[in-house]
Amino acid sequence: MAKTDFMPHDEQLRTAETLSEALPYMRRFAGHTFVIKFGGHAMGDESLAQMFARDVVLLKQVGINPVVVHGGGPQIGAMLDRLKIESSFVSGLRVTDAATVEIVEMVLAGRINKQIASAINRAGGTAIGLSGKDGHLIQARRLERTVRDPESNIEKVLDLGFVGEPERIDPTVLRTLADSDIIPVVAPIGVGAAGETYNINADTAAGAVATALAASKLVMLTDVPGVLDKSGELVTRLTPASARALIEDGTVAGGMVPKVETCIEAVEGATEAAHILDGRIPHVVLLEIFTAPGVGTMIVDTA
Ligand code: ADP
Ligand code: MG
Repeated sequence: MAKTDFMPHDEQLRTAETLSEALPYMRRFAGHTFVIKFGGHAMGDESLAQMFARDVVLLKQVGINPVVVHGGGPQIGAMLDRLKIESSFVSGLRVTDAATVEIVEMVLAGRINKQIASAINRAGGTAIGLSGKDGHLIQARRLERTVRDPESNIEKVLDLGFVGEPERIDPTVLRTLADSDIIPVVAPIGVGAAGETYNINADTAAGAVATALAASKLVMLTDVPGVLDKSGELVTRLTPASARALIEDGTVAGGMVPKVETCIEAVEGATEAAHILDGRIPHVVLLEIFTAPGVGTMIVDTA
């Protein structure tokens, strides 16, 4: 057979087709900023974490500007246990006292942040790890949480210690990196007016960063297929109104509340779409961004 009679294998053809199908998405998103919240199981699993890192490098390579914000609740809990630092709880919520917030910062801005930056670097990218303390990135204030006493029906303010919420994001450092080959990886630590350290929910931090950068997409990786309805079925598409209804009737609860609230806020702002995806699915970020069917839950503000 002459060399010109080359016929590709089916598998080769599929690869070429997949790449070709991604072209319109690459063209559409080149130059756009995507904020990606990395968390849950995907972060604890070595092979999933390496695939995630590779996906982020691919985004950067095709001209998208990925900004990674990560969580780390389970790793913080494990370190507190290891150091035998006991936490107190109010209304079921962990109180972050001075000793605890020190560990929170060490685990988030130290170990986890560097693990992710290193994984991205090993995948061929150039990542830089930052916490909200770097470059005035996340200025925070104490989070006010209230609960209603079921007997008296009086609202009382809970003191959760050094748990904060973003007050002001200074995106200068992230904008500078967007014009370079560098991929920023952000630990959800905020700094208060007096220099105190705040532990911020990573979903909330990712949303604040997405808003400050007017990101086109906010992508949240978690341990479930997406937002589930009352019967446990995946909800593939939500609007701010339908998402709020799910929070109000209690279908969306616990850790899904800050995720959905953050997505609502983002799409009511400049963000075109927010996605809640199953981080246990290999290459879930690529599947969502570069293929037509989409995966997980998409939140869009369509009037
Ligand atoms: P992450 O580490 O990704 O932030 P969280 O545990 O904080 O994960 O939040 C995700 C969790 O929210 C799910 O594992 C699930 O237990 C809970 N959850 C509550 N309501 C829902 C819902 N309607 N759909 C999906 N998950 C929900
Ligand atoms: Mg969470």
